[in-house]
Amino acid sequence: MLDLRDPSLFKERCLLVGEWRPATNGATFPVTNPATAEIIAHVPQLEGAAIEEAIIAAQRAFLLWREKTAKERCVILRRWFDLITENSADLAAIMTAEQGKPLAESRGEVAYAASFIDWFAEEGKRIYGDVIPSPQADKRLVVLKQPVGVCAAITPWNFPAAMITRKAAPALAAGCVMIVKPAEQTPLTAFALGELAMRAGIPAGVLQIVTGDAKVIGNVLTKSEVVRKLSFTGSTQIGRLLMAQCAPTLKRISLELGGNAPFIVFDDADIEAAVDGAVQSKFRNAGQTCVCTNRFLVQSGIYDQFAQRLAERVRSLTVGNGVDAGVLIGPLIDEDAVAKVESHIQDAKDKGAEVVTGGNRHSCGGLFVEPTVIVNVTRDMLIAREETFGPVAPLFRFDTEEEAVAMANDTEFGLAAYFFTENSKRMWRVAEALEYGMVGHNTGLISNEVAPFGGMKQSGIGREGSKYGIDEYLEIKYFCTSVG
Ligand code: ADP
Repeated sequence: MLDLRDPSLFKERCLLVGEWRPATNGATFPVTNPATAEIIAHVPQLEGAAIEEAIIAAQRAFLLWREKTAKERCVILRRWFDLITENSADLAAIMTAEQGKPLAESRGEVAYAASFIDWFAEEGKRIYGDVIPSPQADKRLVVLKQPVGVCAAITPWNFPAAMITRKAAPALAAGCVMIVKPAEQTPLTAFALGELAMRAGIPAGVLQIVTGDAKVIGNVLTKSEVVRKLSFTGSTQIGRLLMAQCAPTLKRISLELGGNAPFIVFDDADIEAAVDGAVQSKFRNAGQTCVCTNRFLVQSGIYDQFAQRLAERVRSLTVGNGVDAGVLIGPLIDEDAVAKVESHIQDAKDKGAEVVTGGNRHSCGGLFVEPTVIVNVTRDMLIAREETFGPVAPLFRFDTEEEAVAMANDTEFGLAAYFFTENSKRMWRVAEALEYGMVGHNTGLISNEVAPFGGMKQSGIGREGSKYGIDEYLEIKYFCTSVG
């Protein structure tokens, strides 16, 4: 159905023990294209027994994979990187078909996803231990770093490739093995990555990709004593649940959860740069990323001008099917997502906010929503507290820097924050005062493979990417030897 250069990247089976397998009872569930509502694939609804089999295979594979040198693992991971890069057009086509983001964004995500493999393939060679000066003359103290073991990853639909490689690349580079459960909306990109991993020579059982009922798979993975670590990206609600499920076996966990990103525009900001940053950080992936701005906090002196300029830019954003040229805003992922966006807009209007542009479902129909700018938004509105996850920019007003920081921090979340000012003293004050894991100054785009991605407060635990990201997959072992 999809016009791919290499149709064998389109898989409707799970990657289990190095083989493409259906569910033993043949059960499947459909994958739909959110732009057209068309069913594009049927993928396996695995039973719990298949997940248990995957765990046993992973444990066997781990014993061999951890014995390889970091350099040997690097060579294989580099091949995976090269294959992803060579096949980026097909991967992007699959991604747009199941996720909806414009093709150019899908291509960007494939490059971003691949960059984690390139980075961690190299970082694997730099897992240094330590020698500690001993307090006793007859002892030698050494710190070894060893792979955690069998890991599980549960990933969301908004970045169907990058959320997998950001976990799998450091895990595999460190000598761990991983079972990935992609989101039910976007398994096809995951399978294509799995096919390329096999072609790259990643051994059977080192990377497995399973689909089915999220609860069933989550239960088997979290209950297992063999699985030593869970890395999850998704909603705070499910993150809390999985953390509780991991408690009985005291699994190590990394959680990348929801955000409520503030974007502060001070009177002394470069307004054109702020509008550019606003569009980048708010409307990428139709507003469906956990680092997307959720709240614009704009100082009184610049409020009207910023609102007007932002609305002009937002009116020019073309909405449509992501495969069509020039489209910048695709559909939302499903009907629930559209309903949430609509409820946030309605609630704001009911409480006195004013829609400057957009505000409705788009004339394309289906899951398309108009990019929207709302002014006179206040803290009592739903949009102030909850992640909208859609193309809606609400503008709050503030007077002083102190007030802006207090408003920005007035949330249980702490993932990403942005602010625009030309004043360098204010830059340091605000950067230090924001209770967020990631802060962007005079930019709306901050993610890359070399920087630590993660949240404070209820936005998560742990960091991904960067030199810190590999620590999540390593145990520290203290080794003491007596020479006396
Ligand atoms: P979203 O609302 O953005 O879809 P979720 O947190 O529900 O975010 O989903 C993120 C990932 O978590 C998906 O892979 C989904 O299948 C998975 N998931 C959802 N519920 C559970 C659960 N009870 N146990 C394990 N995984 C789950």
